Amino acid sequence: MKENLYECHGHLLMDGSDYAKAKNRHENGPDETIIRAELAALEKAGVTYFRDGGDACGVCLAAKELSGEYGIDYVTPGFALHKTGRYGDIVGRGFADYAEFKTRLSEVKACGGDFVKIMLSGIITFKTYGGLSCESLSPEEIKELANIAHGEGFAVMVHVNGKEAVKAAASCMDSIEHGYFGDEDVLSAMAESGVVWVPTLAAVSAFVGRPGFNEEVAALTLKNQLAMLRKAESLGVSIACGSDSGAVGVPHGEGTRTELRLLKEAGLSDETIAAGNEKIRRIFRKQN
Ligand SMILES: [Zn+2]
Repeated sequence: MKENLYECHGHLLMDGSDYAKAKNRHENGPDETIIRAELAALEKAGVTYFRDGGDACGVCLAAKELSGEYGIDYVTPGFALHKTGRYGDIVGRGFADYAEFKTRLSEVKACGGDFVKIMLSGIITFKTYGGLSCESLSPEEIKELANIAHGEGFAVMVHVNGKEAVKAAASCMDSIEHGYFGDEDVLSAMAESGVVWVPTLAAVSAFVGRPGFNEEVAALTLKNQLAMLRKAESLGVSIACGSDSGAVGVPHGEGTRTELRLLKEAGLSDETIAAGNEKIRRIFRKQN
């Protein structure tokens, strides 16, 4: 019997090991052979829904076209948006101000994007606990970006870490990706708004013991996220399964299975995970 696994956060462009090399393979345009191999790996693992987090090379858009042949319902923002000068170049395009953000939204529509993905904060550095690679957008900016994107009819997926930014995003966005370093206040905001949290445990788990990063910081980051998830479930927060499939240490297919295992290790019930997954699928549906 088919398992119907949901991968609510992945990047088909990435290969689970080396981002730069993976990107180079699509240098002259999306490489269909590679895309088919990754889709086949997902199919083999039982993945039937894949929500891409975007890339700067059009690989996710090409993958969407082929996904039906692999029995995968595939949705994508095309590319992700980030404030110019902050983190996000590797997955998309920048915007300097709200006017340029609106221009980018019309590009998302034109290229066949199903929803909008915005980077609101940096990535986790694993040097010191809670450390991020750059400053986060302010709560005011976060609210305004949500207003503009929703005004254009888009559902919004946001990459965000750090208490203040996650809390602001929880009140106005449709899904929180990563969402590390929150607290009970953040969880209450999530429960109240009904936003879906995609905690990407597999991506952080892959840093535990990785050379060049502080092992204790990585382990503590994972441990605290697991503890937050337990509380989140008891508060009624919607939680979905997304591994950051394709990120370093998170190969397509295997990554989704790891994420599911970690969500269960956190103590989440199958019902909670299935409900969160379905909610993502309902909100982030195919538009093109
Ligand atoms: Zn991602």
